[in-house]
Amino acid sequence: MGFLRNWRRKRVLTSARIDAALWARVASKLSFLRGLSDEETARLKQLVVLFLAEKEMHGARGLQLTDEARVSIAAQACLPILNLGLDVYNGWVGIVVYPGEFRVRKEETDEHGIVHTFDEELAGEAWPGGPVILSWEDVGLAERGYNVVIHEFAHKIHLDGAGDENFPAAGAGMDAAKWRETLEEAYRRFCTEVDAGLATFIDPYAAEHPAEFFAVMSEAFFTESAVLARDWPELYGQLALFYRQDPAGRAG
Ligand SMILES: [Zn+2]
Repeated sequence: MGFLRNWRRKRVLTSARIDAALWARVASKLSFLRGLSDEETARLKQLVVLFLAEKEMHGARGLQLTDEARVSIAAQACLPILNLGLDVYNGWVGIVVYPGEFRVRKEETDEHGIVHTFDEELAGEAWPGGPVILSWEDVGLAERGYNVVIHEFAHKIHLDGAGDENFPAAGAGMDAAKWRETLEEAYRRFCTEVDAGLATFIDPYAAEHPAEFFAVMSEAFFTESAVLARDWPELYGQLALFYRQDPAGRAG
């Protein structure tokens, strides 16, 4: 199964590369890419080329996606899988980018079995086995600790991999019980801090659900890594094992 895919990928890489000036423009706006070594940057660029060859990215509602927008989204999507491999994203192709927040109809069943329907404005959404939807305006709001692309692709890694509705399963070679305990304990601590009204550099939205906690902490792991490593050392250590990266240990 993997043979044909590997052959195609080799072909893509021999015939396509990212323009150096284009990459420089993209990287200048993504500060968390600066600490990557030359070797890591080269591999990230290869992943971006393959990602753009294998996925279909469309602008919605008349949004025209520039090359810079495509490469920027791809670079942020590929950073979490730099050491996990592109196969983590197999099984789906679509990325839809709206100009701004988009409205979706949600249904929720309450404790009495009554189904409530409501509309929600979203900055991003990830479907299990399906597309990722992003608001370009919110992609542009990326700052330290907030990154909608990394957030949605962390959901994708969780939804399409092993695990339950709360958390992804531990990666190969990890202590599965330690991973789970660390996430659960950190989530409890975070919810307690939010309930107590304590100021935190982590988006309080992370208290909504364990799966949101994982996605929001993944944003912090890649874009505010030194602060996360300082304030949440056990969680940082487990995420470093999960993603097989140590962004806080990088220069820059
Ligand atoms: Zn989310």
